[in-house]
Amino acid sequence: MSHAEFEKGYFGQFGGSFVPPALQEVLDYLAEQFERYKEDPDFQNEYVYYLKEYIGRENPLTFARNLTEKLNGAKIYLKREDLNHTGAHKINNVIGQILLAKRMGVKRVIAETGAGQHGVATATACAMFNMDCTIYMGAEDTRRQALNVFRMELLGAKVVAVSKGQGRLKEAVDEALNDLVANYKNTFYLLGSAVGPHPFPTMVKHFQSVISEESKRQILEKEGRLPDAVIACTGGGSNAIGAFAHYLHEEKVRLIGVEPDQAATLTHGVPAVIHGFKCLVLLDEEGNPQPTYSIAAGLDYPGVGPEHSFLKESGRAEYYTVTNEEVLEAFQVLSKTEGILPALESSHAIAYACKLAPTMNKDQIIIVNLSGRGDKDVEQVFHMLKK
Ligand SMILES: *Cc1c(COP(=O)(O)O)cnc(C)c1O
Repeated sequence: MSHAEFEKGYFGQFGGSFVPPALQEVLDYLAEQFERYKEDPDFQNEYVYYLKEYIGRENPLTFARNLTEKLNGAKIYLKREDLNHTGAHKINNVIGQILLAKRMGVKRVIAETGAGQHGVATATACAMFNMDCTIYMGAEDTRRQALNVFRMELLGAKVVAVSKGQGRLKEAVDEALNDLVANYKNTFYLLGSAVGPHPFPTMVKHFQSVISEESKRQILEKEGRLPDAVIACTGGGSNAIGAFAHYLHEEKVRLIGVEPDQAATLTHGVPAVIHGFKCLVLLDEEGNPQPTYSIAAGLDYPGVGPEHSFLKESGRAEYYTVTNEEVLEAFQVLSKTEGILPALESSHAIAYACKLAPTMNKDQIIIVNLSGRGDKDVEQVFHMLKK
């Protein structure tokens, strides 16, 4: 790989690839195949076909009239990723990567999952494309998320419980990487967020950019102008980078990422290498990744995508935290005002919109990326509100 190509994996000082040589070879090949197929008209047509026929895109940009009236400020629009098949944005990326795996002639897909959402999305697409599917999951996580394990099994996936170490996401990632290095000839590692070594952050952004491609066209149709702000929650950062992508060069559009206050990577992190790439990381006093905690399982990760790390450092995007109480309140407010139950992850974005909108004028516009639906979280919210 030439120096110029390697530089592609960098966002300022962040990103890159810090992995053993055997894995680097596999990633270089993947980067080359991705670059080749993403420009290929047949590949693009196939991707667009499945976005429409399987995921149900394009999804609406809904004017949240009641929430807007209640907050008495900027107009709020919701980008409805919650209406996608499987109920969140993750499937956009999964379909893109599976189509790439198919072009590469691979029949076996592996992935790792923490709470199970990415595992379920991957198992779903593997069922449809008739791919052999193995999902690595920490043993502790398989106990806490037994129903998601069963969902994946119903979809035909094999779930491997990893009991090494703490039996959490980190150990599952290590096992998945070992599998990839041993079986790279017939195996595709399907990564679920805009994290990891190059080319994953670039590839995941590419497949999630459909969110802002649509929202930009939709807001121009509805309002004849661009929004003043786009707000999204950030875990690894895939729904946020997809929601920001087509506005990055529109300097008047504020781009706002929202994190849990107990997993505030972008707000409190420092540059460090984690899981083979450089990003802002929450470190403890000894310099080890700090345990994070979020009521939204999808936001519980001590690192974050390298491009968000760069957007924070360069000042192009802003990142804020919200508390669990604010998130729970937002979950209920959107349910009551609009009849839409948001995922707890997405409720972070709603919570910040509820603070920002009243400080803006009534002719201003906010787009909130509603990354997923809240049905999966109802039982958890039930227990939290009861106590
Ligand atoms: C997984 C998930 C997230 C967090 O992941 P990102 O890569 O940061 O987008 C957010 N919302 C929902 C609904 C999710 O399932």
